[in-house]
Amino acid sequence: MNDATPAANVPKTLRELSCADDYDPDSMPVDTARSLIRQYLSPVTATERVHIRTALGRVLAEDVVSPLDVPGHDNSAMDGWAVRFADLPREGTVTLRRIGDSFAGKPFGGALGAALGPGEAVRIFTGGVMPAGADTVVMQERATEVEGGVQVAAGAVGKPGQNRRFAGEDLKRGEVVFAVGQALNPAELGMLASLGVIEVTVYRRLRVAFFSTGDELRSIGQPLGAGEIYDSNRYTLHGMLTRLGSDVVDMGVVRDEPAALERAFATAAANADVVITSGGVSVGEADFVKQLLDRLGEVLFWKIAMKPGRPLAYGRIGAAHFFGLPGNPVSVMVTFYQFVRDALLVLQGRRNVTGVPTFSATLGAPIRKAPGRTEFQRGVLAPDGAGGYTVRTTGDQGSGILSSMSRANCFIVLPPECGNVEAGASVQVQLLEGLI
Ligand code: AMP
Ligand code: MG
Repeated sequence: MNDATPAANVPKTLRELSCADDYDPDSMPVDTARSLIRQYLSPVTATERVHIRTALGRVLAEDVVSPLDVPGHDNSAMDGWAVRFADLPREGTVTLRRIGDSFAGKPFGGALGAALGPGEAVRIFTGGVMPAGADTVVMQERATEVEGGVQVAAGAVGKPGQNRRFAGEDLKRGEVVFAVGQALNPAELGMLASLGVIEVTVYRRLRVAFFSTGDELRSIGQPLGAGEIYDSNRYTLHGMLTRLGSDVVDMGVVRDEPAALERAFATAAANADVVITSGGVSVGEADFVKQLLDRLGEVLFWKIAMKPGRPLAYGRIGAAHFFGLPGNPVSVMVTFYQFVRDALLVLQGRRNVTGVPTFSATLGAPIRKAPGRTEFQRGVLAPDGAGGYTVRTTGDQGSGILSSMSRANCFIVLPPECGNVEAGASVQVQLLEGLI
């Protein structure tokens, strides 16, 4: 159900693309895999109109041009007194005559907007329209109210125009406020409302179908037999996909049988923009899945030089994008955040997708690591009491230990060339908190 027309610069087939880049599918660097995937993504094009109240997380499909100046009038940034800067003394004090008030929403002089003359002041409150003739606001803390007026000493304001907000200083009429591809977060919703915009045109939501593979898996609510485990990956995937604003199609558990898998892949691809599976891509299992997917689409199997999350399949089944994630619960989350999340953001139509933000923190306890692969260790980042942050691992880093993800608030990203890391070293971290 992909409504996108591939961009002219997108290579015709994934295999063509991969061959052009001289890559090794058995030891693919994380960045190479990311950029290969990126080159193959074509964002959705269908759009819909939505009320701004339901637009959170959606992506603009049209530029928004400001229909007005924001703010609409010069107004006061402070509670105080609107005055003419020219009336203020160089030394000593001056007493100005109070001729009225300007409240937010209730300007001085009402609709007529009477002007302020020499030696006059208007009591003004934050957001109050600047009276004509006044150019500066004296903060109330720097002025002394007296009978019939206000006394202001030299030095109460630094320069003309102080404490005055100018019409259009936030947004100017006719200005492009947001461009196509802008994601709508709470600040954008507020800005749209400040412009009086009620509805926006956004790209349609992505539809993502997912299922788990494995004869050992049972869905919650079913009794467990010997050697069976509950399928947890569908629930982490459901959570991660829902946060990204996708429409999800949960297709349940599919047994490791060619006929059942073929049916599931075909149904998923016919009903979604993206198909995500977990399990069945590791050595041994992958062989028949590979043969199957070769028939159904164009899928490449990679061994990513990363830990956890080594096996990854990526490609297309029909018009749908396909991600075959490893089965281990931690690997599912790591590969989702390192590859799938970015891809979905691009497919949603967002511009300037930059990957999960990475920043530096100080390592609180040593980490053992062999060079060769990028490791995404689960970490706990905490304030160090001196204005910075230290990070430690959650302990055992086995890729089946999902509690390590739950205890973690970040990934510690250790690049391929890096070996053991000492306490006190600077390491790169990616915050999980707040991540969509
Ligand atoms: P696989 O990649 O299919 O070889 O699976 C690797 C490991 O992850 C095995 O221990 C599986 O039992 C486990 N696993 C696979 N799928 C799931 C799932 N949906 N939920 C929980 N564990 C899983
Ligand atoms: Mg399996």
